[in-house]
Amino acid sequence: MDLFEYQAKELFAEYGVLIQRGGVASTAAEAEAIAADFAANGSPQVVIKAQVKTGGRGKAGGVKLAASPAEARAKAEAILGMDIKGHTVHSVLVAEDVDIAEEYYLSFLIDRAERTFLAICSVEGGVEIEEVARTKPEALARIPVSPLAGVDRATALEIVRAGGLPEHAQAGAAELAERLWAVFTDEDATLVEVNPLVYTGEGRVLALDAKVTLDDNAAFRQDWAAFADPTAVDPIEARAKAKHLNYVKLDGSVGIIGNGAGLVMSTLDVVAYAGEEFGGVRPANFLDIGGGASAEVMANGLDIVLSDPHVRSVFVNVFGGITACDAVANGIVSAMALLAERGDAVTHPIVVRLDGNKAVEGRAILAAAALPGIEQVGTMDDAARRAAELAAAAANGA
Ligand code: GDP
Ligand code: MN
Repeated sequence: MDLFEYQAKELFAEYGVLIQRGGVASTAAEAEAIAADFAANGSPQVVIKAQVKTGGRGKAGGVKLAASPAEARAKAEAILGMDIKGHTVHSVLVAEDVDIAEEYYLSFLIDRAERTFLAICSVEGGVEIEEVARTKPEALARIPVSPLAGVDRATALEIVRAGGLPEHAQAGAAELAERLWAVFTDEDATLVEVNPLVYTGEGRVLALDAKVTLDDNAAFRQDWAAFADPTAVDPIEARAKAKHLNYVKLDGSVGIIGNGAGLVMSTLDVVAYAGEEFGGVRPANFLDIGGGASAEVMANGLDIVLSDPHVRSVFVNVFGGITACDAVANGIVSAMALLAERGDAVTHPIVVRLDGNKAVEGRAILAAAALPGIEQVGTMDDAARRAAELAAAAANGA
């Protein structure tokens, strides 16, 4: 999960990483009010920054200085609603202007290729960092960090010196780097990046920008509720998550339900391949219902998959294992009844392929139930083809 700059800076502040003061606003009037507070405290000059989870805001016109509350309002008006690389600006950070003397770069990240943590530091920070990385890679010092030793003040000093930071900035930058490392490890981040790290006219070193990516696998041991971003989450995915289903929305028309992530992944491929014959029919989602395909799980799964209005057919692909095919077949039969009872009777065609443990029994149960709209197909390839065909036919009929 990526954080907005203002959220990343709130985390930074908790760890004593110096940042400029600021507040977040979702309307121009709120931005003006924040700027008015700064003006009342003797700092009328503010910077208005688009809050979007992408870089390059400065170059895109999403970072603007304002000399008065009225100007802050006008600049916020211009930035709110802006589209930056496909991200709509819903809020702006209104921060006290900083007198920038020098701009550096500092980050900690996981270097998967080298299987270690890495610090990257450079005296040449700012909006041209990508260009620097391309044309002068030697200007970016890459310093491996041992997960056991971590970053103490001495290591932090080595990092900022390796990055070529001038003598006058080294102590401040090292202190900040040490605290940034604490953010990185204690918050289970996979990336913390400060670009630019600035040396101010008053001789302070602070984080002018902040990028943090948190490791979702650590969510169970962290309290990240405040970072939830409803505007970024697909509503169907959010409902699926609430029902503990592993659902990912895709943009095709064949709903997919399978047991086991590997099987579902290959089902997506097989459906996409079969769909080419029918004008590019593609899978509508990934949904792994896991091992225990109870009636309730199956009903929830069908419910979620069918709530996507683009779905025209559903492919249930199950390989019986510990949960055998007879249990899955009973799950499907009960799920259909459950949905009908709730007034959500299934009207889309469903193609079922059962194989593996107790496949024969499972197929017999489904055949005996003779549910309208449910078709059984023996192999995965044929079932995928049939589901794609039905989706195409439904789309043409609609
Ligand atoms: P990014 O373009 O998305 O990385 O956004 P940044 O926060 O890094 O801002 C881009 C550039 O805007 C920085 O490199 C600074 O030069 C400038 N900038 C950002 N904040 C301030 C500020 O408070 N005062 C001044 N004078 N310039 C700023
Ligand atoms: Mn930046």
